[in-house]
Amino acid sequence: MSNAPDFDNADRGFVAALTPGVVTASDGRVVWDADGWAALLAGECPDTVNPSLWRQGQLCSRQGLYEVTEGIYQVRGLDISNMTIVEGDTGVIVIDPLLSVETAAAALGLYRAHRGDRPVTAVVYSHSHADHFGGVAGVTDGTVPILAPVGFMEHAVAENVYAGTAMTRRAGFMYGATLPVGPAGQIGFGLGLASSTGTVSLFPPTVHITRTGQEEIIDGVRMLFQLTPGTEAPAEMNFLFPDHRALCMAENATHTMHNVLTLRGALVRDARIWSRYLTEAITLFDGRADVLFASHHWPTWGHDDMMRFLSEQRDLYAFLHDQTLRLLNQGHTGTEIAEMIQLPPALDTAWHAGGYYGSLSHNVKAVYQRYLGWFDGNPANLWQHPPVETAQRYVDCLGGVDAVLTHARGYLDEGDLRFAAQLLQHAVFADPDRSDARELLAQVFERLAYGAENGIWRNFYLTGAQELRHGPNATPVDLGGGMAAVLSVEQIFDTLAIRVDAPKAWHDTIVIDWTFTELGQSYRTTLRNGVLLQQQDPPAGQPDLSLILTKPDLLGVLAGSGLGGIAHDGDIELLTRLAGYLDAPDPSFTIVTP
Ligand SMILES: [Zn+2]
Repeated sequence: MSNAPDFDNADRGFVAALTPGVVTASDGRVVWDADGWAALLAGECPDTVNPSLWRQGQLCSRQGLYEVTEGIYQVRGLDISNMTIVEGDTGVIVIDPLLSVETAAAALGLYRAHRGDRPVTAVVYSHSHADHFGGVAGVTDGTVPILAPVGFMEHAVAENVYAGTAMTRRAGFMYGATLPVGPAGQIGFGLGLASSTGTVSLFPPTVHITRTGQEEIIDGVRMLFQLTPGTEAPAEMNFLFPDHRALCMAENATHTMHNVLTLRGALVRDARIWSRYLTEAITLFDGRADVLFASHHWPTWGHDDMMRFLSEQRDLYAFLHDQTLRLLNQGHTGTEIAEMIQLPPALDTAWHAGGYYGSLSHNVKAVYQRYLGWFDGNPANLWQHPPVETAQRYVDCLGGVDAVLTHARGYLDEGDLRFAAQLLQHAVFADPDRSDARELLAQVFERLAYGAENGIWRNFYLTGAQELRHGPNATPVDLGGGMAAVLSVEQIFDTLAIRVDAPKAWHDTIVIDWTFTELGQSYRTTLRNGVLLQQQDPPAGQPDLSLILTKPDLLGVLAGSGLGGIAHDGDIELLTRLAGYLDAPDPSFTIVTP
């Protein structure tokens, strides 16, 4: 396979780098260090990194301002994602303002230093993931038009409302957030190098893209939209700049196999729909663009290369879907199919289909999960003991922890790292105080990491090794940070309901009516049988307590600012009693140890 097109394309149109390539927060904390990444990835691949993943990291480590085509620029390598800047009649349209306010401001500053101090006249969010909107307050005060696909707000917050703490914890593993940057630590994870660690912001969209074929002219720039809900994100869109002959593919076609199910945990995506929308994109946009760019990675120029890229990306998701179902309908389980399946030669050798971020193995299991769920149909797997109880019994059968370690070393000597990890996991869960078992498992995880082509797998293995040696490390990532204010009342009550400690609460009943004056909405919440139910428009019947308040009042109460000033009828102490039943999530729970 030739290296050249990717490296040439990653460098094409280079205008200038950010120098020094370091972005700091107002308190001086470094939120992005492009220079560090460049220094790390400049060298030869160390033997602690898979060479293909190293190559991907080198491509991602290029940073600076790039001209995509006349009037369209990208700032790449200053965050996990790209910011795209389109020059209009009076200013610029910013597409996907990165993850952090600080990196977004630096990116815009870099553009302005070379293209003039043009005002931002509009913002476009290509989809509902935070690395495509979180930096918005770094480029605008929110008073310009903000375009986004229909359903954007709902999904921007919904993904993190319910399982947010667990997802955040697992995202720490996925992104290797607690690992040092270096040859034996973080080296990038295929989609980008890392997430910046600045301030996340969000202004709600003001212009909703509701249908494919919708055209908008903003600051003299013509845009033609294709809605792609349920692909890489639940609310996402591709769009063409017909007058620039440039196509933005959002995150639907990037230079990696993407995730059908992200390993931090999320609702499983639909590979079938994803491939359908890529076919539609090819049909809609073929012959109308000379360059294709996305919100991660480098652009692709030229009709034939663009069409080959899009077609192969489309084939990839169709293949994942269809072949998993073919084999599943022959009775194979996800774990089995993941071992059986092989990509067709043309996709297997296409760099952009490489398993750097998603992987063939875990995507197959995701498709299986989407259709059949966790149960493989074998009743022996229906009612298993949980991990610790299972581990104790296996260790007992094998003759104790020492015997397990001996067995594990045998498999290690044969190079069967996978089974050595399975065995050692039992030893660690059966007897977590055995530091020799923990250390041996940590070493196995490291060897698995160093061989992994997938950047996410690498980070999971290395963070697992870190937990085995040093205990759980609190995760610095906060997926839901700054989101509370944009939650709906219904979502706020949901976040309370999922914190009710049921055994503590199930003998109590509390009925409260809440009237939100500024919204003109009333709700009744009922605590009974350990569940907190909610209902808009309270039915007849007397509540134990009525409250008249605003949504900010409610958020204030939840943040602990007291009940002062909230108009009420009934026993206000019931609110305190209700709060007493709420459990707190654990943001740093253990994963590879019991
Ligand atoms: Zn992204």
